[in-house]
Amino acid sequence: MRPAEPSDRSNATTELYQQVILDHNRSPRNWGTVADETHRADGSNPLCGDRYTVTLKVDAVGRIEEVAVDGNGCAISKASASMMSESVKGRSVDEALQLFEQFRGLVTGETSADDASEDLGKLKVFNGIAEFPARVKCAMLSWHTLESALAGEDVASTE
Ligand code: ZN
Repeated sequence: MRPAEPSDRSNATTELYQQVILDHNRSPRNWGTVADETHRADGSNPLCGDRYTVTLKVDAVGRIEEVAVDGNGCAISKASASMMSESVKGRSVDEALQLFEQFRGLVTGETSADDASEDLGKLKVFNGIAEFPARVKCAMLSWHTLESALAGEDVASTE
């Protein structure tokens, strides 16, 4: 195998990113509301018009047993919300908040994709978004909403 040229690599990354966004828009995971929720928050990104509600069921030992997202918005916000739900389900609240910080580092460009934690897994496809500041808010919205819900706040806004 020849070493990939930088341009090859970024094309492959862009392609993977587009596939993931398409897939999660077509069939968003954990969509709806958790029936016996313990936490809930509404999030909005007025710049883009994205609006999501995150509901959670956290068990007695602080593990996220169920998580669901409902709402609508652009493709990036929706894919990110779907992937957020997959990523935090089954984790402890502390782990979810750590993941929130790691994801924020990645999409704002504070952390490079190479330095990003392996915990992020598929979420790493969002690394290119740092170049588009308006889109960072779309990608972060459901995560901010998750954080607000876990903090016992009802509302989250990117503004
Ligand atoms: Zn958006």
